[in-house]
Amino acid sequence: MTSRSLRLGVLEGDDIGHEIVPASVRVAEAAAARTGLAIEWTQVPIGRRALDTHGSTMPAGTLDTLAALDGWILGPIGHREYPKVAEAINPHPILRKHFDLFANVRPTRSYPGIGCLYDDIDLVIVRENNEGFQPDRNVVAGSGEFRPTEDVTISVRVISKEGSRKVARAALELARARRKHLTLVHKNTVFKLGCGMFVDSCYEVAKDYPDITVDECIVDTFAMRLVREPQAFDTVVTTNMFGDILTDEAAGLVGGLGMAPGLCIGRGSLAMAQATHGSAPDIAGKGIANPYAMIESTRMLLDWLGRQHGVSPAVEAAALMRQAMDHALADPATRTRDIAGTADLEGMTQGILNALGSEGGKRAHA
Ligand code: ATP
Repeated sequence: MTSRSLRLGVLEGDDIGHEIVPASVRVAEAAAARTGLAIEWTQVPIGRRALDTHGSTMPAGTLDTLAALDGWILGPIGHREYPKVAEAINPHPILRKHFDLFANVRPTRSYPGIGCLYDDIDLVIVRENNEGFQPDRNVVAGSGEFRPTEDVTISVRVISKEGSRKVARAALELARARRKHLTLVHKNTVFKLGCGMFVDSCYEVAKDYPDITVDECIVDTFAMRLVREPQAFDTVVTTNMFGDILTDEAAGLVGGLGMAPGLCIGRGSLAMAQATHGSAPDIAGKGIANPYAMIESTRMLLDWLGRQHGVSPAVEAAALMRQAMDHALADPATRTRDIAGTADLEGMTQGILNALGSEGGKRAHA
C-alpha cells in the first residue's frame, strides 16, 4: 500500500456472489480510475467452486494470502447447500474470528421510490461478530450447542467483557462520526448476567466518549420501535444474534436484503466487505440480483481503508461511488426489480458505471 494504492482480495463466495462481486469490482475500479487510486486485486478461491478446484471451501493458505492484503470483499456464502464432507466448511465465521473482525457495521438507509417504508431512515446497527449465541463461532473447538440426551438440547451463549468493550468502542467511534447518539440493545431483564455484562461494559467504555448520548432499549421493544419509528435511532450496538435478526428487519424497511450492506472491522485497519444477505440460490445465475448491498459494502471498505491509511484517493473514490449509486437508484431504469425498477443486474451496474463517467465505465470493462 502507498498513499495512492490498496491491495484488495476478491472472494466471490457462492451463487449470486459470482455476479454481484464482479459487479462491485467493476464499480470500485471505475471510481478508483477517476481519483487516481491504484487497486491491486487478488482473486482468492473460496466456497463451493474452491471445493471443486482446490479440494476445500477454504483452501490451505487462504488466511496467509489475506493477511498480506489491506482488506477484501467476501461474497455471500451458501454453506447450507455444501455437500456433507469435512472439507466443506463455512469460511466466513473463521475469517471473522481469525482476523478478529469483531464489529459488523450494517447501515440502513432510505432511498426515494424504491419501496422503503419511510423516506428518512438513516441508522447503523453494529453487531458483535464473534461471540454470542452462534454455536459455530463462540467456542475455539467443538460447538456451542450440544445434546446431552435424545430430547434435550443446550445452546450456550458467550458474552465477554472484552468482546463487549471492543464492539462498544467501535460503535462509539462510529456514533462520533454520525449524529452522536448510541442505543444499546439488549435483554438484561432476562439475561441478567450475559446482557448485564454487555450493557455494563458498553457504559464503561462510553465514559471515554462524553460527547455521545447513550441510551438503551430492550430488544423486543427495539424490534417494535424499529418498525414504527426507525428515525429515532442513529447508531445501535447489540450482541451477535440480536444483531443478526434486527439487521434483516431493518433491511425490510428499506427495500429488502438487496439493500443491506455490511463491513466487518476490528482493532487494526484490516476490514472485510460482506453484505448482510445470503447467497440467494433461488435467483443465482439469472442475472437479476440486486448488486447494491455488495457494491455499497465495497464502497464502505474503500472509505474505511482510505481513512485508516490516509489514502485520500480511496476516500474520494468512495464518495464518487455513493453519488453514482444515488444517481442509479433514482431511476427505475437503472435499478433492479426487487426495488421497484426494471433493470437486471447488468443494467443497474451499467447505470452506476455510467454515472461514474463513461471513461471510468470503459476502463472498468477493459
Ligand atoms: P443467510 O441465512 O445465509 O444469510 P438468508 O436465509 O438470509 O441467507 P438469502 O440467501 O439472503 O437468505 O436470501 C433470501 C431471499 O432474499 C432470497 O431468496 C432472494 O429472493 C432475496 N435476496 C437476497 N439477496 C438478494 C439480492 N442481492 N438481490 C435480490 N434479492 C435478494
